[in-house]
Amino acid sequence: MLSKVRPSVENLAVYVPGKPIEEVQRELGLTQVIKLASNENPWGPSPRALQAISKALSEIYLYPDANAQDLKESLGSELAVDANQIIIGNGSEEIVQMIAKTFVDPGDEVVMAAPSFPRYQTVTEMMAGISREVMLVDYRHDLLTMAQQITSRTKVIFVCNPNNPTGTIVTETELDEFMRQVPADILVVFDEAYYEYVADPSFVSGLKYLKDGRRVLILRTFSKAYGLAGLRLGYGIGDAAVIDMLNRVREPFNGNLLAQVAAQAAWLDKEHLQQVLQNTAAGLQQLTQGLARLGLQAIPSHTNFFLVDVGQPSPEVFQALLRQGIIIRPGHLFGYANAIRVTVGTTEQNQAFLQALTGILRR
Ligand SMILES: *Cc1c(COP(=O)(O)O)cnc(C)c1O
Repeated sequence: MLSKVRPSVENLAVYVPGKPIEEVQRELGLTQVIKLASNENPWGPSPRALQAISKALSEIYLYPDANAQDLKESLGSELAVDANQIIIGNGSEEIVQMIAKTFVDPGDEVVMAAPSFPRYQTVTEMMAGISREVMLVDYRHDLLTMAQQITSRTKVIFVCNPNNPTGTIVTETELDEFMRQVPADILVVFDEAYYEYVADPSFVSGLKYLKDGRRVLILRTFSKAYGLAGLRLGYGIGDAAVIDMLNRVREPFNGNLLAQVAAQAAWLDKEHLQQVLQNTAAGLQQLTQGLARLGLQAIPSHTNFFLVDVGQPSPEVFQALLRQGIIIRPGHLFGYANAIRVTVGTTEQNQAFLQALTGILRR
């Protein structure tokens, strides 16, 4: 071990990202590779975002607006919050890290579901905090048990809604009950990275509790439905006092110049967003029906991905799909030995996936 490194860093798990397309092409000598592993949006961003990037290219010798004022005002006017209630992140993952830096001292506790987004645990442990993980029940957050985990050391609770990797939601009724049990001074973080995809009327955004005056922070991103994962831009919405504290640990120029202009243009193109949501819903249906023909039932998803038990060890199914140029996420990485997580692709990509999976499961 390297001397003088903080033990809480030495013990951290290194994030395992979805396998990049180029790596699979190189390793397997394939030209056609389909990536359905990282919940990216295969239709890409609004053409208006691309235009905004082209226009801004000649300006990249300048530092970006450290305050991202234009973008925050655009977001705020539609969300009915002030610009000072919004924080920008280099991806919403960066805001997850800011939360830990702001709230978690050594020995402090953070409550989260498992399996859920792995960064909550990593950033907590990076700060020498203690993660209190509560197993999902029926693939959904067990909010009542999460509330029971609260102690005098609890600083933050993460609720990933919809949850990654399961695609499930918790309902408004369940959240109302949960919020009644959470002391007013604990920060509840609603990670709503897949918010745009949700159509179920029983869902409610954490914004509701912000408007009730509760200490909550809502995380959203341009990486998924807005198709800008490569540029890295996420945002948090909260009480101005919470945002003020987060801003103290934020890197001053964390929202890069191209990301800021692209996000703002993408935000204003609701037509493109609607098209993406329609395409995703159709793709999810295509995949659900295709899986049903194989006798498989995916967990009903409120996102652009789904988890499905394929009845075979997921590393083997992952490798077999990979050999056919299709990258998915094997479920053993998050504790589902026989399940795979698959992102909704284009009609052709979904078809290729279903065909490959059919061959693999029939062997
Ligand atoms: C993809 C994802 C994010 C977004 O990450 P960015 O850093 O904004 O790209 C955040 N939370 C969850 C649960 C996700 O799946």
